[in-house]
Amino acid sequence: MDRGNGMIKDQEFIKNPNVPGPTKEEVRCIVICKSDVKPKDVVVDIGCGTGGLTLEFAKMAKTVYSIDINHDAIETTQQNLEKHGLTGNVEVIEGDGFDVLDKIEKFDLLVIGGSGGKLPFLIEKGYNKLNNNGRIIIMAILLETCTEAISSLEKLSLKPDVVNVSISKGEITKRGTMMLARNPITIISAQKSI
Ligand code: SAH
Repeated sequence: MDRGNGMIKDQEFIKNPNVPGPTKEEVRCIVICKSDVKPKDVVVDIGCGTGGLTLEFAKMAKTVYSIDINHDAIETTQQNLEKHGLTGNVEVIEGDGFDVLDKIEKFDLLVIGGSGGKLPFLIEKGYNKLNNNGRIIIMAILLETCTEAISSLEKLSLKPDVVNVSISKGEITKRGTMMLARNPITIISAQKSI
């Protein structure tokens, strides 16, 4: 299939009311840029949810391991991969990211979209399996998750890049274009270099 550089539109994802996501199109754009993903990369997406990020990485990386603890999320991500013809290089795995990490060899990019209170442990375990020059990228909605991510990365002597993103999208109404605000999200990333 011929693909441009654009993101998949939010409304093109199959959704399940029990599953968060997809990460909004404009936020996905920034995450992809910050991740510096390359065609040779192996990506691990912990907390794949609806598959918002998994599908974008599937278009750009060599292999993607998509993990979620919620069975419905696994099904939804799989459905979205099929809908968009992106199943070829993605392995979708149901389980706790902390345990599943043990079964995966080295990788180049660790994406954490959900951690269920285990963020410091996920970061530490993930860091040890990251290839040199590999990146960790964390999406945080809670302030507590931001501080936890930053201090976990600093403990590993990494220098986190922290960006808070607030997107407003225009809705065309009869009277004009009304800007509707979306929840802010913080994108925290760091690179391993030994
Ligand atoms: N990035 C996704 C949305 C992520 S929502 C998208 O764009 O569609 C966060 C997800 O993290 C949820 O589906 C939740 O089930 C999952 N999650 C939370 N803790 C987890 C853990 N310890 N291991 C694996 N998945 C986890």
